[in-house]
Amino acid sequence: MKKMMGYECSLCGKKLPADFQGYVCPDDSGNLNVLLDYDAIKATVHPQQIKDSRESSLWRYEPLLPVVDPGFQQTALHSAGWTPVYYFQKMAESLGVQNLWVKDEGRNPTASFKDRASAVLIARAKEIGAKTIVTASTGNAGAALAGMAAASGWHAIIFAPKSAPPAKIAQLLVFGAEVILVDGNYDSAFDLSVKAAEAYGWYCRNTGYNAFTAEGKKTAAFEIWEQVIEPFGKSDAPLNIFVSVGDGNIISGIHKGFIDLQRLGWLPVMPRIFGVQSELSNAVYQAWQRGDEDIQPVQATTFADSISVDLPRDGVRAVRAATQTGGAYLQIEENAIYDGISALGKVGVFAEPAGATAYAGMCKALREGLIDSSSDVLVVNTGSGLKDIRSAMKATGEAVVIHPDMASLEQYLQKKEEIKG
Ligand SMILES: *Cc1c(COP(=O)(O)O)cnc(C)c1O
Ligand SMILES: [Zn+2]
Repeated sequence: MKKMMGYECSLCGKKLPADFQGYVCPDDSGNLNVLLDYDAIKATVHPQQIKDSRESSLWRYEPLLPVVDPGFQQTALHSAGWTPVYYFQKMAESLGVQNLWVKDEGRNPTASFKDRASAVLIARAKEIGAKTIVTASTGNAGAALAGMAAASGWHAIIFAPKSAPPAKIAQLLVFGAEVILVDGNYDSAFDLSVKAAEAYGWYCRNTGYNAFTAEGKKTAAFEIWEQVIEPFGKSDAPLNIFVSVGDGNIISGIHKGFIDLQRLGWLPVMPRIFGVQSELSNAVYQAWQRGDEDIQPVQATTFADSISVDLPRDGVRAVRAATQTGGAYLQIEENAIYDGISALGKVGVFAEPAGATAYAGMCKALREGLIDSSSDVLVVNTGSGLKDIRSAMKATGEAVVIHPDMASLEQYLQKKEEIKG
């Protein structure tokens, strides 16, 4: 069955055929939505078929993807997605919401949400016969592409800012990608990678540029549907989903996934989607706040490197993910990100700064009354804390060092008692 019908521009609505060779709308550079043949899918796929799948990766959703499963069973490529969702009752009670789930995307093969997009991109590269794939990245998209390419024998070229956290650069190198660090920010790496792809004929994976990244990322929505909405969702109240936003492709992808489910008639209530940005990287928040879709660049300086973006490349659809679902945008202070790392750590989730940003946004939404004590909430932790241990240590403070003898230990414990007392 051919599921992909073509593309539709998110700005002007122009339709393009499935064999279109470009990345964005030729008229206005708008992001392209992949059009699926929902009638054909509906006629051949029953939701129970997917729920009964024993495939514990995003490839369980192959019937809803515009690519075919590329194979490479029992590799990292075939284990992206199907991440765990945790339920925190005590935390929900102390925060004052009805139910609280955290979906831990740090549990992906290369430890971030980006594996979803990169896995689907490899499948697409295989279909179109592209041998070399290039991407610009703040770190995670590159690590994901490098890891998925290593698992499947593709050649990956990564442009990243030289200021990326060392763990992310180490991942790129260990996975054997061609790593080119630029003496500039993410936006400059983005522009260079687009030019290079054009000049050398490389296939470009860039987030919010290649239409297939959102198709990979939408699988997280399918999982939230299977793991939370179907078993626990209320028929009269939406789930409130919080996700951090840089380029805006994760939030757009999640929105697309729920749109797919709605079109298929499988989703009882559209969730409300909340985007969270640091106030030091808030271009999408500002557009949402003004009530328009005109994304103006900022000078991003947040320490949450994964969401540090001057000009979000998927900003328009990112605004719509909130406005079309009754959600909202929140901007938070840098310090709230450290608090978020600590709070999630205390329930066993090690989040990188961008992941903790979503949690901090949820706390702010509660304070501002955007959600309340009757709300069901799901926070997406988009990446593992091991990606950036320097920020983690800043959130917690240093560990104590003592002489390895009982007297020193006693002295330390006593001092601690006194401080507590
Ligand atoms: C990329 C990334 C984000 C933001 O995703 P966008 O699509 O750029 O909005 C958030 N958190 C982590 C860990 C990421 O790697
Ligand atoms: Zn257009």
